[in-house]
Amino acid sequence: MSDTLLSAPRVLAEAERTFERTIRDLCQYLEFPAVSSDPAHHDDVRRLALQVSSDLRALGFEATVRELPDALPLVAARISAEDPSAPTLLIYGHIDLQPVAGEAWETPPHQAVRREAPDGERLYARGAADDMGGWMSHLAALRAWLETERTVPLNVKLVLEGEEEIGSPNLERYMDAFPEDFDADVMVLTDCENPGLDLPGLTTSLRGLYEIDIECRALTSDVHSGLWGNMAPDVSTALFRAVAHLVDGFGRPKFGRTEPSEAFRESAERIPLGSDVIRQGAHLAAGVEPLPLEGRFAAEWLWRQPALTVLSTTLPRPDAHKNALRASARASLSIRVPPGRDKSELRREIEELLAELPSSGVLIELSERPGGAASWLYEPKGPAFAAARRAYERVWGKPLTEIGIGGSIPFVALFGRRYAHLPLILNGVMDPLTGAHGPNESLHLGLFKRAILTNVWLYAELAEELRPNAE
Ligand SMILES: [Zn+2]
Repeated sequence: MSDTLLSAPRVLAEAERTFERTIRDLCQYLEFPAVSSDPAHHDDVRRLALQVSSDLRALGFEATVRELPDALPLVAARISAEDPSAPTLLIYGHIDLQPVAGEAWETPPHQAVRREAPDGERLYARGAADDMGGWMSHLAALRAWLETERTVPLNVKLVLEGEEEIGSPNLERYMDAFPEDFDADVMVLTDCENPGLDLPGLTTSLRGLYEIDIECRALTSDVHSGLWGNMAPDVSTALFRAVAHLVDGFGRPKFGRTEPSEAFRESAERIPLGSDVIRQGAHLAAGVEPLPLEGRFAAEWLWRQPALTVLSTTLPRPDAHKNALRASARASLSIRVPPGRDKSELRREIEELLAELPSSGVLIELSERPGGAASWLYEPKGPAFAAARRAYERVWGKPLTEIGIGGSIPFVALFGRRYAHLPLILNGVMDPLTGAHGPNESLHLGLFKRAILTNVWLYAELAEELRPNAE
């Protein structure tokens, strides 16, 4: 066993001993209302960036607040291992927060409150788990290494973004402007979920986002429905039929269906996504049941199959109530693209479905809306994942469970595209009851401690596994 692995138990003891201090430090960061979507709080994001970088310097890091025009800052820090040939790990997290306006909080959102919850002790505050607790779990582990061993087992770089909650609009500009901040042998992106309190998650897929408009046109102006109905076509009912034809009876797309791997099915079976979790998580009204599984696991429907939502329509509204056939009607649709599929394939399948519609007498046009995001499908293999699995097994006594993200997170897609050749370990400190982006967001403190202890091992295992002369 190497010296690094032999040191780990001492470091773990230090991380345990200083856990209360870690919570206190985290509570201080949570007092910054660093809401990136609100210009009134941009100075809070800047103040927090300065605070974190000065704390990192005090720990012995070389830390800078990077700035670009028209962007919120990013904290970049690094610390070297004693052995210059040690591998380099990059840890990504974000310091900005989702807004809290209009949400019903039981405690002040920017003042962390520790409470006993039915499943253990939790820390309530905006950002407690998304994502201050995420990168804090690394800061605490790194500090424990520095305080016991005076060094870290591998070179470490930290990148803490200030714009994740607004879609990382400038992260790629930062990657272009400061490539050495990101240059690494392995990356840990620490802003993801665990499927259960005792079930550590490794995120390996992301659905993409594709938005389209379907427009039905028939007239050059609205006309009296009593005079012309039955001889002039109705765009509204034609639009209902067109959209309805794209989905099955449960509203699931008939297009873009994908067969996941056998390996995914095996891990999907272990994911605790039963009816109660879905009822609670999706806020199902009394009398409404989760949609039937139809031979697939819930995890598959949520992460690996396409989904369709109507974003808006130009159908007649209550404030424009009149007895008229309308000239045109449009629906804007959001489509979640299954991991590994491309939007152009989905578009072809949508066009085929529209072509087989019985004629409703109107003109139907499909157009793409700007924006969107690519999907991502990843196979976690190689030495870095062997190291990560060992670190998780040591602390959780369980294997990592592969999970996916049903939404479309731009930073994940960006790292997935730019650093596809590197091991990308996506983990975090969120759990199914964290309630990120909503009221009463919380961090489970038992899970948080396990995350810190896992990180202590993770650095040692990665250093060992990725040593340049490792056999
Ligand atoms: Zn986040």
